[in-house]
Amino acid sequence: MMSSPITYALRALSTFFSPQKPLIFSGQGAVLKLADLMVISGQKRPLLVTDSFLLKNGMLDELIAFLEGAGCTVTVFDGIIPNPTFAVVEAGLAASRAGQCDAVFAVGGGSAIDAAKVIAAASTSKKSLAQLTGILKVKQPPLPFYVAPTTSGTGSEVTSAAVISDTETHKKTFFVDPKYIPIATAFDTGLLKSLPGPMTAATGMDALTHAIEAYTSRNRFADTDRDAAMAIKLIVKFLPVAYEDGADEHAREMVALGSFLAGYAFSKASLGYVHAISHQISAHYNTPHGLANAILLPRVLRFNKTASAQRYAKLERMLSGTEGDAFAPEQVDQFIARVDALAERVGIPVNLKDVQPADFDAIAKEALAEARSSYAVPRVMRKADVVAILKSVESGDRSVRFV
Ligand code: NAD
Repeated sequence: MMSSPITYALRALSTFFSPQKPLIFSGQGAVLKLADLMVISGQKRPLLVTDSFLLKNGMLDELIAFLEGAGCTVTVFDGIIPNPTFAVVEAGLAASRAGQCDAVFAVGGGSAIDAAKVIAAASTSKKSLAQLTGILKVKQPPLPFYVAPTTSGTGSEVTSAAVISDTETHKKTFFVDPKYIPIATAFDTGLLKSLPGPMTAATGMDALTHAIEAYTSRNRFADTDRDAAMAIKLIVKFLPVAYEDGADEHAREMVALGSFLAGYAFSKASLGYVHAISHQISAHYNTPHGLANAILLPRVLRFNKTASAQRYAKLERMLSGTEGDAFAPEQVDQFIARVDALAERVGIPVNLKDVQPADFDAIAKEALAEARSSYAVPRVMRKADVVAILKSVESGDRSVRFV
C-alpha cells in the first residue's frame, strides 16, 4: 500500500517520540483551578480568547472576576467564529500585542482553542501567519497557553495542531507543532452543560471519529490503541446520556475525557478519509466540523469494512463485553450497526443539504490530496469512491455502492 514520505516520517518520529499530554483539571469549577495554576506560575496579563456568544452569556464572568481578584490585567478577545479565519487570528494577535499579554487562555470550542494556539505562537514570533503554516514552524516558545474546552469533540486541547480557514482558497490550513500543546486544560462541567443537544451530538461524534480513525490507522501504536479504545467506550456509553440530559455532569465529564483521549490518539496515529473529506466540505460550505464528520463516518466505515474487519470486530467485542470471544465475521457488521444506531439516537441527520454536485470533483481531488499527504489509511480511495460518498451524503442513502 502506498504511503507518502510525510506518513513515513510521522511513523518514524512517533516511534521515538510521544506527544506530551497537558495537565488536567476536571469537574465543576475546574476552570478556576486552571486560572489559579496560571497565576501561581507568574502570568498576570492573560489574553482570554473566546466568542461573543459565550462572553455575552456570562460564561466567563466567574473566571474574569477570579483573575482580576488575583491582580491580573485581563484582555478579552471575543472575535472567534466557527471555522476561524486568518483575519480572526490577526485580530486576536493585535489584541495580544495591544494588551502586552504574557499568557493566552482559551475558553470555547475547537475554533477558539485553535485560533488561540496560533495567537500564542505568533505573539512571540517575528514570522507572519503564512510563515507559521505547516509542520514544525514554531521556533520560539509560544506564550504560556491554557485551555478550557466548552465543547467535547475536537480534542484540540491535547493535539499539536490548529486548523485555520483560508477564505480565498476555500481550504483549511494546518499548523502542526508540539509547541501548540497547551500546558494544562480544564474540563469544567459548569461550562460544558450549556452545550445544546445538536452540538453535543455533532461534537461527540467528531470525537468518536477521531478515536475510530486512530484505531484503524496503519500508524497506530499500543498507547494510541489503548486511548482510542477507552475513548470509544466512554463516548458510546455517555454521549446519549449527555445528549438527552445536558445537565448530567457525570456524563458531560466522561464525554470530555473521551474526547481528550481520542485527541491524543489521533494526534499520534493520524486520521483518515472522514476528516480528509469533511475538511473540504467545511471549507466549501462552512459546515460545522463535527456535523460533517458525523454524517461521513458511517459511509467511510463501510468503505473500510474489509480492510478494518479485525479492528471493527475487536471493538465490537469490547463494547458488547465479549472480549474473550474469537473473531466472527458478523461482529464487523454489528460494530457498523452500533455506530449507525448511536448516530440515530443522538439525532444526526443522514444527509447534508449544503453539498453541491458541481463541487464534487474539486472536493474529491482535495480530499485525496489531504489523505495522501497526511494520513495512514487502512484502504486507499479513488476519486470515484469519494464522489460516491458525496452522492450518498447528498441523497441521504448511507449504503454507498463503491464501484
Ligand atoms: P466551535 O468551536 O466552532 O463552536 C461551535 C459553536 O458552539 C459556537 O457558536 C460556540 O459559541 C458554541 N458553543 C461552544 N461551546 C458552547 C457551550 N458550552 N454552550 C453553548 N454554546 C457553545 O465547535 P467545535 O466543533 O468545538 O470546533 C470546530 C473547530 O475545531 C473547526 O474549526 C475544526 O477544524 C477544529 N478542529 C481542530 C482540531 C485540532 O486538533 N486542532 C481537531 C478537530 C477539529
